[in-house]
Amino acid sequence: RAPRAAMAEAAAGGAPWAPADTEGDECLREYRHLLSPDILAGQVAFITGGGSGIGFRIAELFMRHGCRTVIASRNLQRVSEASKKLMAATGQQCLALSVDVRQPQTVAAAVDEALKEFQRIDILVNNAAGNFLCPASALSFNAFKTVIDIDTLGTFNTSKVLFEKYFRDHGGVIVNITATLSYRGQALQVHAGAAKAAIDAMTRHLAVEWGPNKIRVNSLAPGPITGTEGYRRLGGKFAEGTSLFDTIPLQRAGNKTEIAHSTLYLASPLSSYVTGTTLVVDGGSWLTAANNFPAMLGIASSSAK
Ligand code: NAP
Repeated sequence: RAPRAAMAEAAAGGAPWAPADTEGDECLREYRHLLSPDILAGQVAFITGGGSGIGFRIAELFMRHGCRTVIASRNLQRVSEASKKLMAATGQQCLALSVDVRQPQTVAAAVDEALKEFQRIDILVNNAAGNFLCPASALSFNAFKTVIDIDTLGTFNTSKVLFEKYFRDHGGVIVNITATLSYRGQALQVHAGAAKAAIDAMTRHLAVEWGPNKIRVNSLAPGPITGTEGYRRLGGKFAEGTSLFDTIPLQRAGNKTEIAHSTLYLASPLSSYVTGTTLVVDGGSWLTAANNFPAMLGIASSSAK
């Protein structure tokens, strides 16, 4: 569909309009700005897990709005390839770095390198995470710990390193990508639900303590998002095939561009008086989605095939 027609539909507020997206980790073929293209001009964003899925699209849209980015994750080849695509599509700079958010010293080294390159960091997006479907009874102690380590400790480690190295003296914005899993005790998700709930708590604690340093801290909780590893692993395709998404108030899954748009809002001056909150971006999904333990076990076993 022509972008102009899609934008006219968007302006008219018509559901089921959704902005364009791609299935894989590719940049959008075309993009028409809804916000001013220079809303993040001159800024620098540090995005963990920015080489794939939601983090990749966040990096792309930030760059399309004037921001330079640092994308950091364990697999340097993945972030390096992603940064080439992002720079080619947007004409902005993107620095690819290797970090394991579980290891504060690797985060500190990456932040030092980013500051050396850009002399500033204005925005941190804590997006790195790991997840899979597993009933609590089958979850190993180590598997639970690993998810808490990456999601919760990783978010704290990265936030604290950035606070000490830059935000304390210059201010900044932190957006933590969480989830709605804990709101109704989602079956097969005790590990990720607990990890993300702890991050939402951290969002409020840090907003209180760091507000006086001109640092805003918010969470963004996506629903099911197409074209992502999370969607593939957590039964998204199965839900599509069985019309499960009809129960979502907006009657569809969301896409990466929609999450990136909402992250852009939270990172930009448009949300200058917003801190300590969680923005749920899920089409109303958590209010109505099935949370049936036996049915979820069936989804898990058919998704694993
Ligand atoms: P994804 O593509 O698998 O992204 C996760 C990223 O985190 C990867 O790029 C991975 O890169 C990085 N990562 C994992 N462990 C790391 C570590 N220890 N240190 C540094 N980086 C690490 O998944 P996604 O589906 O786009 O999810 C992105 C975020 O959205 C996550 O926080 C997820 O919980 C949240 N979310 C997603 C959905 C959904 O439907 N997809 C729904 C709700 C919430 P490396 O392997 O290179 O380290």
